[in-house]
Amino acid sequence: MAEKTRIALAPGDGIGPEIMDAALSIFRAAGVEEHVEFVSVEMGESVFDRDTRGMTDESIRTIEETGIVYKGPMGTPKGGGGKSINVSLRKMYGAFANIRHFQSLPGVETVYSRAGVPVDFYVIRENIEDTYGGIEHRLTRDVVECKRLISAPGCDQVHRAAFELADRLGIESVYCGHKANIMKMTDGLFLERFRSVASEYPGIEHGDVIIDALCMNLVLRPQNYKMVVLPNLQGDIVSDLAAGLVGGLGFAPSANIGKHVSIFEAVHGTAPDIAGKGVANPTSLLLSGIMMLRHIGMLRQAALIENALLVTLESGVRTGDFGDPSTESVGTRGFADAIASNLGKKPESRAVVEPDSLPSAPTLVRPQPPRTNTMLSVFAEARVEHVGADIYVESDLGPAGLAERLVAAVEGTPFRLSMMSNRGTQVWPTGSTFTECVDHYRARFLLRDGQASAGIGCAECLALAGRIAEAVEVVECQPLKTYDGERGYSLAQGQ
Ligand code: NAD
Repeated sequence: MAEKTRIALAPGDGIGPEIMDAALSIFRAAGVEEHVEFVSVEMGESVFDRDTRGMTDESIRTIEETGIVYKGPMGTPKGGGGKSINVSLRKMYGAFANIRHFQSLPGVETVYSRAGVPVDFYVIRENIEDTYGGIEHRLTRDVVECKRLISAPGCDQVHRAAFELADRLGIESVYCGHKANIMKMTDGLFLERFRSVASEYPGIEHGDVIIDALCMNLVLRPQNYKMVVLPNLQGDIVSDLAAGLVGGLGFAPSANIGKHVSIFEAVHGTAPDIAGKGVANPTSLLLSGIMMLRHIGMLRQAALIENALLVTLESGVRTGDFGDPSTESVGTRGFADAIASNLGKKPESRAVVEPDSLPSAPTLVRPQPPRTNTMLSVFAEARVEHVGADIYVESDLGPAGLAERLVAAVEGTPFRLSMMSNRGTQVWPTGSTFTECVDHYRARFLLRDGQASAGIGCAECLALAGRIAEAVEVVECQPLKTYDGERGYSLAQGQ
């Protein structure tokens, strides 16, 4: 018999062990363990006392070796140095695409099920970049910042994951949600790379939608969407909105897919209020487990378990958190036992593929583990020219007073003060006295007319910042460049 596929297993905190136990009992009944070996890893709240990562070195090694993690919810200590394990895992292992499937389920009443509107769509969220880099600084007495990094290779990875999945599932349209009308460079790049990747999949329709309109459309007509791909923060918010359309987080599975490591998890939290009571709903974790079985190629067991879950929900069996409150509810174990007893039955609410016609042994082949960090690039060949610098300064002077100082500070240099903005709005050389200012200015310096850019580089920009620092408090220096002749920086509002 072929070697079993090893999967790192982390039951999690709070209700985690109860719902994991329930999911594994259903897996066992469906014959999953004939092909899969679950290897326990130590992660979660209890580990934070020993290690601020919330996981042990041995767990990290096991995950690197297995490449697949099945995990329950994990608590993050409030305050202190401990970061969310959920976020750390995705970032550390490069699990760049968060895939969530939102579908109406029988027995789970929502406004849409009552209206006879079926909901069935995927949200694909970029999982590593955006504000989730958590790169934050207090810049001045009154101003803090969070850097929002979006990279071309990062965009390509998530867009390709979306189109590949759509292709595999026969999904006919993929939409990109964004705010590129405001964030022209970051969301603009996300959208541009979406269009570029979409052109490789001519058989799949594609379009884009501004994030606020998307939220309204999803609530009004969720049936119009089949797959939406989004940057990290917007994807985080839309995922929970989408969960609300199908009955809540308890019914929303989640897969975090990477090249080497993929993580399948329940998206709800540890539910400390009901932990240990045996009443938690294991559906989200079970649905994530079904995605995991499909990911590794065990399609037969995935279909078998999904059918059994649907039959169970159709029959009105429910845990206390959903369904008709006038009917009796069962606990976590009773719910799992009901699903196990329905293995092999066919649901009425949905057309299903015959499980027996599907492969049952894992087919996943993992790429060779990386020996060093992989460098990703899309625009490595772009021609770069320095044209100036944005110097951010802390000052309680008004725009005119500050400009006077800055103009004097750069006399005799290749740079001239071109404009100043405050919170993104231009306040010098033109602006409105109605614009309220805070103590953080962007001062844009460009090369003087006739000054060649040859010989101007990062060192000259930093020297400029040094010169200005003699006149005012410098907070940050951002060299301004063009890439293949195109401006690599945004204009100020009103410029
Ligand atoms: P929560 O999701 O744990 O609970 C919110 C409400 O939903 C509670 O009333 C809870 O009883 C209920 N609930 C959640 N899951 C349920 C289930 N499976 N069955 C029945 N009812 C369920 O959110 P919270 O209270 O804000 O967070 C508690 C802890 O979980 C925090 O430490 C938080 O950091 C962590 N958390 C972890 C994850 C994760 O591991 N992916 C996600 C969110 C929150």
